[in-house]
Amino acid sequence: STPAEQLAASDTAPDVAAIDTIFRSQQATALQWRRSTPAERIERIKKLVALVQDNTDRIYAAAHADFRKPESEVDISEIMPVLAEARKNIKKLKKWMKPKRVMPTSTTFGTKAWIQYEPRGVSLIISPWNYPLNLSFMPLVSALGAGCPAIIKPSEMTPHMSALMKELIESAFDPSEVAVIEGDVRASQALLSLPFDHIFFTGSPTVGKIVMKAAAEHLTSVTLELGGKSPVIVDETANVKRAAESITWGKFANNGQTCIAPDYLFVHESVKEAFVEAASAQIRKFYGDNPEQSADYCRIVNGRHHGRIQGLMTEAVDKGARIAHGGQSNDEEHFLAPTLITDVPADARIMEEEIFGPLLPILTYTDLDQVLGHINENPKPLALYLFSRDQATMDKVMHSTSAGSTCINTNMVQYLHGNLPFGGVNNSGIGNAHGHWGFKAFSHERSVVRDKFSMTKMFNPPYTDFVKKMIKF
Ligand code: NAD
Repeated sequence: STPAEQLAASDTAPDVAAIDTIFRSQQATALQWRRSTPAERIERIKKLVALVQDNTDRIYAAAHADFRKPESEVDISEIMPVLAEARKNIKKLKKWMKPKRVMPTSTTFGTKAWIQYEPRGVSLIISPWNYPLNLSFMPLVSALGAGCPAIIKPSEMTPHMSALMKELIESAFDPSEVAVIEGDVRASQALLSLPFDHIFFTGSPTVGKIVMKAAAEHLTSVTLELGGKSPVIVDETANVKRAAESITWGKFANNGQTCIAPDYLFVHESVKEAFVEAASAQIRKFYGDNPEQSADYCRIVNGRHHGRIQGLMTEAVDKGARIAHGGQSNDEEHFLAPTLITDVPADARIMEEEIFGPLLPILTYTDLDQVLGHINENPKPLALYLFSRDQATMDKVMHSTSAGSTCINTNMVQYLHGNLPFGGVNNSGIGNAHGHWGFKAFSHERSVVRDKFSMTKMFNPPYTDFVKKMIKF
């Protein structure tokens, strides 16, 4: 179908009866899948792997059609993470699924106890547009690994990738196992009214709150992978050139439309000039003198967001900010150059909302305590980055702040590290994803006690002096 037809498809009201039928069929599957073996779950994950591997060209084409995402960025940030997550599950599932024995305690002496991982059941995965394949299929791997059927509601803003995911999933899975429901807020709302066993939501904190309220109606458990403003500190001991290289990659890959992208910088006053110069040089190295011509620089997802981000830039400049690099824009193309902004006033909107675009505000500081104060006065970020060679500064920043994740002397790679949990805190998220944590997100840890010698009957009345003595701590 043409892009216009696809847009029209996502523009239609959801078919509530069809959604209901799929949901009920998945409830029946969930009961069967409770008894699924590691081999059966691995089989399902392998089907997903084959779908991705056999269709890479179509995935590149959809990503390009949606917002001109370069092929290499599709490899690094869409395909590779999904395949790595699948491989990890295939390798570890047997171990993760094994009941974990725990030691008896003094009051439960004579019993055997363990934790059994059971699938939570029918799961809803709501994903955003910025990494549409990754943020739908990575949680799907975790759901399948945990033994859960799932319905994916991808974003309406990347219609090509959403339509492709629907087609691929339908070619390999029965809707009673995995289904993709396209559509906008209305489809989301129709799905959110159903009593899912778990909801895995990736998106903005504003919509996260709506999802959590809807989940509360059924006391459905949630994993919320949200966003917000992720600050970066570059101190006076940092390797400025390396910091500039790392930060410009983190900020301008995917056009700044990354949940863990550096949102704004605090650079020590003494290295500010050197940093701006190094960052400018690095941008030229990455994207040439005219980034609009670069095949490696993608676009802002749509006109609405282009206008929003451009508005942030204009307002900051009107209030006295200076464009130190970039600033060029092409409305029709949804193009905005990689832009460095200095002298940003504290009351500019760019310092209030998540930028989610290729604008990098560079603030300066002399007193680290003021920087930490600013970070702590704001909602806990999804990521906080530090560039420093001073151990005392690293310790101070780590112990005086809270954030979903932190990288020191690099950024964004925590996402790719398969042995780390990925998630936020409070406003930036609840719960964790990836690897073992993803498996646990879709599993219930069921406590089981098996009595061997009837020792627990000593708690029965009448409460003798012996029992009274036993239970006094
Ligand atoms: P969004 O919250 O606007 O939308 C996410 C999903 O929710 C979409 O599928 C959308 O259709 C649906 N939705 C939108 N409004 C809704 C409503 N009122 N009720 C129910 N569902 C609704 O987010 P987005 O613009 O697609 O993505 C950008 C946001 O996602 C940023 O804040 C970013 O930081 C965050 N994000 C977080 C992560 C993470 O892993 N923590 C990853 C990527 C993006």
